[in-house]
Amino acid sequence: MADADLILVLDAGTTSTRAMVFSSAGDVRAIAQRPLEQHYPQSGWVEHDAEEIWRSTLEVARDAVTIAGGIDRIACLGIANQRETVIAWDRNSWNPLHRAIVWQDRRTADACAALRNQGHEPDVQARTGLLLDPYFSATKMRWLLDNAADVAAARDAGSLAFGTVESWLVFKLSGGAHLCDASNASRTSLLPLAGASWDPMLCNLFGVPEEALPEVVDCAGALATTQPDLFGRAIPITGLAGDQQAATIGQGCLSPGDVKATYGTGAFVLANVGGRLPRSHHRLLGTVLTQLDGARSYALEGSVFVAGSLVQWLRDSLGLIADAAETEALARSVPNTGGVVIVPALSGLGAPHWLPHARGSITGLSFATSRAHLVRAALEAMALQTHDLAHAFAADGAGWRSLRIDGGMTANDWIAQDLADILALPVERPELVETTALGAAMLAAVGAGLHSNLRAAADAMRGPLRRFTPQLDEAARSARLAAWRKALATV
Ligand code: ADP
Repeated sequence: MADADLILVLDAGTTSTRAMVFSSAGDVRAIAQRPLEQHYPQSGWVEHDAEEIWRSTLEVARDAVTIAGGIDRIACLGIANQRETVIAWDRNSWNPLHRAIVWQDRRTADACAALRNQGHEPDVQARTGLLLDPYFSATKMRWLLDNAADVAAARDAGSLAFGTVESWLVFKLSGGAHLCDASNASRTSLLPLAGASWDPMLCNLFGVPEEALPEVVDCAGALATTQPDLFGRAIPITGLAGDQQAATIGQGCLSPGDVKATYGTGAFVLANVGGRLPRSHHRLLGTVLTQLDGARSYALEGSVFVAGSLVQWLRDSLGLIADAAETEALARSVPNTGGVVIVPALSGLGAPHWLPHARGSITGLSFATSRAHLVRAALEAMALQTHDLAHAFAADGAGWRSLRIDGGMTANDWIAQDLADILALPVERPELVETTALGAAMLAAVGAGLHSNLRAAADAMRGPLRRFTPQLDEAARSARLAAWRKALATV
């Protein structure tokens, strides 16, 4: 066992399930990945098969362990996961009772509107940091109780377990530990930002039985142990975090004022606010960043629903491009968008607008508009949406000094430079863009005692950065922001 010094990470994402193995110096020793099937039973509904999430996770974990040299090399396990997604299962049979309802799912929009109309939003926001939106878990749990007979029957029999994706994986890996780390718990609408466990008043408001919920635990430590027969040896589970919190840690945003933005399917900006409770007056979210030895640090968060999915739409629905990487050369091939502005509200607008019924627009078209202008306008929308978030963070007293970026879209240097130009801030991109998995590895390393704290883990495990500095003149920047505001007013 002397050489069990590697960290296995499970990254249970929205579109794929991945396992990675890191050394305690941050080197990547193995990657294995499987796509995850998306189910769209109705417009606005998004589901995953919880059994597929579990099976693929186990497969990729076993593959990664083999690539890294076998189970005897693995010291500990960390998990990062898609947040807010709800799974209901039976504690006795260990079987899911319904498909997972995914964070993007909008089926509880009316239930949220009804609670808002009854005047509950200010209290829910004050307690949880969250708004009343179908994005969060609690109304999804209530929907399952009201609409899935097996879920209601399990509740009546006292065998119902609810959880987010890390809870489900820990239950299956450990053979029955029902846990939820505080960063994931803070996305359910049932955990008070300042309270150690579930709030009975919130459970009552949303109609979620507290006895079906997991125990809220730290993000690092001896949290559970895998069943020995799964990998041939029991592995301690020592790190858990929601994917965006994990990415924030992986970016080394460990001090108040540090900010990261992840550009994948959507875009998520988190600013570390330290130990003070985040209170937004500009429709940002307050969330738990980490809980270590019972002590929490918090983040302010702005979520944009459409980022890389706009590029996918250009490719799959419009056929304007053959692959996402092509957008960079196309954007560079024209000096500007020729007056075209795209507002990417294809599934409503998230922070700071929160307009679920808004729809996208393309304005400023003329006969001179080319494919390159449209593609450039789509990419420009990333920095413009981020600018609106920067404005809201500053108004909440959490202005940005610089921005650390990651996610699939940031492979595009043009986008990275445009962010620096429109935000008028330095933008930093790590060479290793797998910051979500790295953050989970850092937490697991601390939880297993491989590093003494997150700062030491960050110093040892984070790699070099590339810096983009603002180059656009102020007149051009103001003109672009003015055109964006005009287009936004029409959606
Ligand atoms: P997720 O984790 O949400 O599945 P990723 O971080 O893997 O997403 O990012 C994939 C997204 O990034 C896709 O929506 C894709 O369209 C977009 N993307 C990937 N490469 C580029 C690129 N070079 N330029 C612009 N967008 C890109």
